[in-house]
Amino acid sequence: MSADAAAPEEDPRRRIPRTDHLMADPAVARAAAAMGEKVVLGVVRAAQDRARRGEISPDEVTDAVLDALGTRTASSLRPVLNATGVVVHTNLGRAPLSPLAQQALLDAAGYTDVEFDLATGARSRRGAAARAALLAACPGAEDALIVNNGAAALALATTALAGTGEVVISRGELIEIGAGFRLPDLIASTGTRIREVGATNRTHLADYTRAIDGGAAAVLRIHASNYRITGFTSSVPVAELAGPCRDAGIPLIVDIGSGLFAPDPLLPDEPDLPSALADGADLVLASGDKLLGGPQAGILLGRADIIARLARHPLARAMRADKLALAAIEATLEGPTPPVLAYLRTDPSALRERTERLAARVGGEVVPHDGRVGGGGGAEVPISGWALALPAALAPLLRGGDPAIVGTVRDGRCLLDLRCIPEELDGTVAQTVAAALTEAQGKAD
Ligand SMILES: *Cc1c(COP(=O)(O)O)cnc(C)c1O
Repeated sequence: MSADAAAPEEDPRRRIPRTDHLMADPAVARAAAAMGEKVVLGVVRAAQDRARRGEISPDEVTDAVLDALGTRTASSLRPVLNATGVVVHTNLGRAPLSPLAQQALLDAAGYTDVEFDLATGARSRRGAAARAALLAACPGAEDALIVNNGAAALALATTALAGTGEVVISRGELIEIGAGFRLPDLIASTGTRIREVGATNRTHLADYTRAIDGGAAAVLRIHASNYRITGFTSSVPVAELAGPCRDAGIPLIVDIGSGLFAPDPLLPDEPDLPSALADGADLVLASGDKLLGGPQAGILLGRADIIARLARHPLARAMRADKLALAAIEATLEGPTPPVLAYLRTDPSALRERTERLAARVGGEVVPHDGRVGGGGGAEVPISGWALALPAALAPLLRGGDPAIVGTVRDGRCLLDLRCIPEELDGTVAQTVAAALTEAQGKAD
């Protein structure tokens, strides 16, 4: 029986187009060939369900399927416009990649010469180009290794260099990085023992030297990326630890967290990789997707003999970076200023102008709003800027918008900070906000 033949007194749900009819629509069939049958079937069933619930009429099902296929992303992860002003937002995927790094991901997605020399046809060192880019960015390092993330770099460094021996860490640096993960637990999980020294607020050189004389296997400094101790405090600079470690013949490891390749005047307390090495660190660690602005990765830079020990360790194979990360790191280091640093350095007056232009189109109030570095550093450092304040009721509509826009809800208002949104998308933001305002108006009526 054809759907069109249904008598008017019948349950209208009987007129919902059948799955095989929808799948036979030429546009739907083309989508099935491109995206796979399973994905398209899911879209078809969702549209049929909407009709069964009465959200759309049976006549609208075909259009709903075509609309949904037109806007469907390749995975269920949806792109988000980050209007929080938090530059490295862990819940939003940390660093957005530069267009060049995104292209590098695509280029590397198929077969690629990641571990192969096309000139000789022989196997080559994995990720040689990414390693070369790191060494070019940090000439003070003798060698480099790239692993899966910062936590892997830390676990590999401590277990390969200290084994079941003791690694010395100040009590002020035993940090939790988020979601309940604590770096001391991570280190201890490999069997390395932690020798805590000093007090939460103050650790002195003598605390370290006592532990070194007591037979420690390594000394580790960890940058307190996400909190600050202020007031009556004292810590020992890397430069002062280098001598005692060298004299004792044990490595000095510095986990700087965020991956700056040069000191940044906006973030005076944030350490950088070259300075830590110049101060005498034997090995420095950092994440790839914080202020380095690249893909998720753990970067290890330092003495050639130490990197060689790490690379030989069995865990190195379990933690190695994938070809996509290697490609994106190289492109991030060699390409233009990565988005995270550009957003961080955005001129507040330029932000104010963009926000005022948005307000002129959609209304709302332009208010001062501090940005933040976020997940990866610059703890508590405000970065001055502006936001558009709209009614809080708009926030869920914007999150459900196309594209999704995530702002901050505070004091009954939804704040939209344009810092981390590329300027060429300001028009898209205005359209999406206008659509959300119309939707909110519709709900209020
Ligand atoms: C973020 C951070 C880590 C963990 O790095 P991931 O890349 O998130 O695994 C380790 N140490 C410090 C100091 C950090 O800030």
